[in-house]
Amino acid sequence: MNKFTTDVVIGLEIHVEMATDTKLFCGCATSGDDKPNSRTCEVCLGMPGSKPVLNKKAVEYALRLCIALGCKISPELIFSRKSYFYPDMAKNYQISQYEIPLGINGKLRLGSGKTVGITRVHMEEDPAALIHPAGIMESKYVLVDYNRSGDPLVEVVTEPDLESPEEARDFMKQLITILNYLGIFDVNRCVIKADANISIKESKYTRVEIKNITGFKEIERALKYEVERQKQEVKSIVQETRAWDSDVGITRSMRKKEVEEEYGYIIDPDLVKTEISTKWIKEVSDKMPELAQEKAIRYARDFKITEDDARVIAAERLLAELFEKVAEEVDPVLAAKWLRRELVRVLNYNNKEMKDLVIDEKHLIELLKMVEKKEITDAVAKKILEELIQKPFSPKDYVAKQGVKMIVDTKQIQRFCEEAISENPKAVEDYQTGEKKSLQFLIGQVMRKTKGQADPAMVNKLMKELID
Ligand code: ZN
Ligand code: MN
Repeated sequence: MNKFTTDVVIGLEIHVEMATDTKLFCGCATSGDDKPNSRTCEVCLGMPGSKPVLNKKAVEYALRLCIALGCKISPELIFSRKSYFYPDMAKNYQISQYEIPLGINGKLRLGSGKTVGITRVHMEEDPAALIHPAGIMESKYVLVDYNRSGDPLVEVVTEPDLESPEEARDFMKQLITILNYLGIFDVNRCVIKADANISIKESKYTRVEIKNITGFKEIERALKYEVERQKQEVKSIVQETRAWDSDVGITRSMRKKEVEEEYGYIIDPDLVKTEISTKWIKEVSDKMPELAQEKAIRYARDFKITEDDARVIAAERLLAELFEKVAEEVDPVLAAKWLRRELVRVLNYNNKEMKDLVIDEKHLIELLKMVEKKEITDAVAKKILEELIQKPFSPKDYVAKQGVKMIVDTKQIQRFCEEAISENPKAVEDYQTGEKKSLQFLIGQVMRKTKGQADPAMVNKLMKELID
């Protein structure tokens, strides 16, 4: 009998490629020359007699993650050989951890506040990449590129605590946020892959495993498909392993599920046990950065910005760093509004991400100071921001040169209002007969005439006085 009660039960196994310079058991580079098999040696090619030497930096990176996830850390690091035969692993076993993983019993908090249990966190080496020249189905032969072989991975295994594809996606997102903050994952180069086990109530929770889902958007897509498939084919669901085909958007049966015991794990005699002393753990802990969820709490408390703004800003490391610099110089509430809404909007519109942003915070601060002092209107500031993400310039000089300061002269604004009134008699009449939204139209006309430079509050006030 199983203990589940929810409609959908999902657990994840996530492989994260860590951003070390060299591989897990040899000195070969993890990036650089991409000519196939150029970054290899006897160790990562799996030649007989070669001996692995552990990369300490990789262990430190994995320790950071264990600490961030609140895991209990093993006092010694023990590697095992996971035996299997496949061209991506020339020595016919993968060096992984089995009996005693680096970390156990952790947890991760989702955006909703729900906590997901982490069963284990362990280290292992990446296999080589298989290249099917004519596509996976058509190719008559396969090429093997060992450049990736031996790259350091950390694997995070969750409890089956996730109840929907959306939650699985959020889990991945929260995990990536943590990895970014820890500086152990390079979003431009490193790959994050998930295997998911998923079952539904209707099939009495018959467990199906889905392999090789890349990226956090894909995970939701793959799981949504699989929930639907299991519902449709509920009578014929069997325990098996399926592969996600992201091009077609379906899962395909690969094999009946093998159990872990069939991998014939043995402790690797080539790797001496590495002690993980409390002193080492403390050293790593002391260097841990503040993470997103702590940042969000601090922002809401110290800067008095809304919890929602705080969470969104803190979730993106680069945005958070920018916010902290800007909030020192301008009102944090104003800074939060402009960064979270306007900057993110402008980036989305231009199909850019924070990492593509070349904005100089000095310029951003200059811009927002003018908004704060009501020297320019929001409309003008938005226009400047749009240009500022294309190329750097001083917003102050721009405003002076273009003459786009906020118009606060009552007489001048009144003239524009009177013009708008005489040009739009229908709107005025509508307003006077109770159509209150006509006021917004008339104000819009004034803003248009002044190229967005009129003080909106003053326009509002004067226009009402004139037509009421
Ligand atoms: Zn090597
Ligand atoms: Mn694995």
